[in-house]
Amino acid sequence: MATRRHTFRLYPNTTQAKKLFEARRIHCYLYNACIAHRRYEWRASRRSVSYFEQQNCLPEFKKFWVEFAYLNSLSLQSTVKRVDLAYNAFFQGLRKLPKFKSIQSYSGWTYPSLPEKSGWKVDSKGKHGRLTLRDLGITLKMRGQAKNWGKPSTLTIVYKPGLNQWFASITVEIPDAQLLFGSDSQLKYESIVAYDLGTETAITTYNGSEFVEVANPRFTQVLAPKIKQASIALRRKRAPNRKKRIKPSNRWKKANRNVARLQRQAGNQRKDWQHKVTSDIASHHDIGVTEKLNTKGMTARANKGSKRKKQKAGLNKSILSVGFGNLNKLLSYKIEGKGGLLITLDTKKVKPSQRCPNCGVIHKHWAPITNRYHVCDNCGFEVERDKGSVMVMYNVATNQQQGLGTCLSDVGLSGSTSSTVQRKHTGSMKQLGKVKRQKSQIKGDGNLETPSSYEAG
Ligand SMILES: [Zn+2]
Repeated sequence: MATRRHTFRLYPNTTQAKKLFEARRIHCYLYNACIAHRRYEWRASRRSVSYFEQQNCLPEFKKFWVEFAYLNSLSLQSTVKRVDLAYNAFFQGLRKLPKFKSIQSYSGWTYPSLPEKSGWKVDSKGKHGRLTLRDLGITLKMRGQAKNWGKPSTLTIVYKPGLNQWFASITVEIPDAQLLFGSDSQLKYESIVAYDLGTETAITTYNGSEFVEVANPRFTQVLAPKIKQASIALRRKRAPNRKKRIKPSNRWKKANRNVARLQRQAGNQRKDWQHKVTSDIASHHDIGVTEKLNTKGMTARANKGSKRKKQKAGLNKSILSVGFGNLNKLLSYKIEGKGGLLITLDTKKVKPSQRCPNCGVIHKHWAPITNRYHVCDNCGFEVERDKGSVMVMYNVATNQQQGLGTCLSDVGLSGSTSSTVQRKHTGSMKQLGKVKRQKSQIKGDGNLETPSSYEAG
């Protein structure tokens, strides 16, 4: 079973929009109240408030604050959970201390479980349709299209203030069989492709005989000047300042919408391009070979005092404009979706960008990103940087690479079936359910008190 997320635009009428804004306001209020609670307890008695403690407060809270009572209790819990996630990320050093959110920066709320459980209903076959929110008592018109539609499982309502538009982000569960691209589901691992994501060319692929280079679309080069111009125009208008109680001028609002529109356009173009490119590769090959990618390190800022600051900034811009992380994600799910296999090689062991594809000797001086063309001083083999590294990866996957062990496990092979992505989990709603069940079991036995804190696994 795979899950996919699809976003639809909502078209509320005036009364419906009023109700949506009201619900968003209340959820925002709850979010801030939870933060205030945690801050207060910490300042007063150096005590960390757990998620469960706050969740257990909700019924009591609703009695005093009747305007909360009509909202779905699971969606309120998920807002409390948002605070918990934010704090967990902070405790793990991934984020800054959670702040109070203004209504302008509060996006929306979530119905964390199946429609029948948390009171929502989506009437759609994947293209347009209607969405019912039972707690608000409204049915909204919804437009959009999903490539793979399945059983709806969670719903998040999102408001984008810059656009003044509402969206429904729905996750659906799809049976694996439906994801198969072709009609014959028999696995034939025939075609192997090694691919590398670069900056000069966005993707370089090698299938053993020929290279395909997909050019970098560089949306930012086209749209960036426009965005820049629009932002300059925006800065000339009277911006809002809440501390000085200055309201934004109508011209500022208009210019702000313009910037948001251009940025969305760039984002949409990027997404469209990514899907086209990855679908193309995935439809032609059964096994994908790539290296572990460290985009975070790649896009990190240059060291202080480094002469290559500007160069690094340019590199960052082009990495981000292609959207590396997402490209890799899309490729892997598309190849796996049709029953193929994605092999991720250990960069440190294989060193594709420093190894000669012909004789296997490692050249340390090949490493700097500015070295675009490589000549091996051992065997005289000449190759372009991006092409060289995909050749090495292809050779490794097919056991032909000189200078490396013949066993794939020697070179740190990890198949797509084992989890190659190591993420720090901050505790999802699913994990939460597990803890909750454990907790109720302990209660049922009647011998222990409830666990005092919830630890993210
Ligand atoms: Zn060589």
